[in-house]
Amino acid sequence: MLPRIVVAGNGQLGQMLQQAGAPLQLEVMPVDPNADIELGLRPDDVITVEIEHWSDSVSGLQLKQHPNFRNAAALHAVIDRQRQKALLDRLDVPTSPWVSLESGDLNAQLESVADKVIVKRRRGGYDGRGQWRWQKGDQPEAEWAGECIAEAMIPFSHEVSLVGARNAAGEKVFYPLTRNWHENGILRASVSNLQVPAQQQKDAEDWLGRIMDDEDYIGVMAMECFVVDGKLLVNELAPRVHNSGHWTQEGSAISQFQLHLRALADLPLITPPVDGASVMYNLLGRNWKPEWLQVPGVHVHWYGKEIRPGRKVGHVNICRADQASLIESLKALQALVDDEDKIVFEWSIDQLQG
Ligand code: ADP
Ligand code: MG
Repeated sequence: MLPRIVVAGNGQLGQMLQQAGAPLQLEVMPVDPNADIELGLRPDDVITVEIEHWSDSVSGLQLKQHPNFRNAAALHAVIDRQRQKALLDRLDVPTSPWVSLESGDLNAQLESVADKVIVKRRRGGYDGRGQWRWQKGDQPEAEWAGECIAEAMIPFSHEVSLVGARNAAGEKVFYPLTRNWHENGILRASVSNLQVPAQQQKDAEDWLGRIMDDEDYIGVMAMECFVVDGKLLVNELAPRVHNSGHWTQEGSAISQFQLHLRALADLPLITPPVDGASVMYNLLGRNWKPEWLQVPGVHVHWYGKEIRPGRKVGHVNICRADQASLIESLKALQALVDDEDKIVFEWSIDQLQG
């Protein structure tokens, strides 16, 4: 008997986990952890998350206090950027230089990190929210003290992420590194399965493996990195399925959502096969069009949310057997998308053409 998987959070990640469970009739139940209702959890349910923060509501406490609530330690470590950075330092995982901002001379603390820094709220930031840029000479905000970390601005050549999973027996599997383009802190597109130096893949797997082992982690975890002079520097961790892994829905025979469920339900964990090439294009505050489905390899995922400016309301995976066919599909789709999004396809094609 497979356990029921209860997901704290009922956004698109929970929805996609539910879709991934369907072929096995593996029941996935997303719930709102901020509600004040009795959830009727069963003793053999397994609890996972799609968000990291929620209140001590009736539902929220039931989830947290369930004996099968997974990954409490990792959530505790990652939920606060100060603890997350300290974890990376403790495990010798390279990350950008940082300090925790305390009351006192903020200028001196900021300058001790670098001339140009990014100040990040310790808790609650996402999609680039809760971040400020500061450079020597700027006036710091008094409220940063006690609430934020400051880290050096990294002159990266590009950004990549690693998505991997670990099961209760400690077995670990990984996808190839994904290349990501963020604009104003929001992911616009990812490209999978580019040629990357073997050392980058190896380092990334070593580090994420070390982190998951340290936290006795069960499920999918994502690690975002900067690439600087060909070497990786870890930006941040996400203890859950991740937007930069969405291409795996059609780009691998085992999606990150299925992989997460396999780990949680203790089903066999095998290295997900990735043969072709894929691009994931985020729909930020814009609708999709039926004619897109004429383009070979195009898969639309619509979240059913109200469209608001900049809001993630869906994504499109473009998956083909090889890079040349993928570029053909990207050019065909580029002609059909809104003008403001044509640049996403230029970027993606540039990455594929190296
Ligand atoms: P979020 O939780 O919102 O994803 P991140 O820390 O990943 O926050 O920051 C969002 C994006 O901002 C990153 O993907 C990167 O493009 C940029 N960024 C964040 N930190 C740095 C840094 N230290 N140097 C340069 N760019 C950064
Ligand atoms: Mg990020």
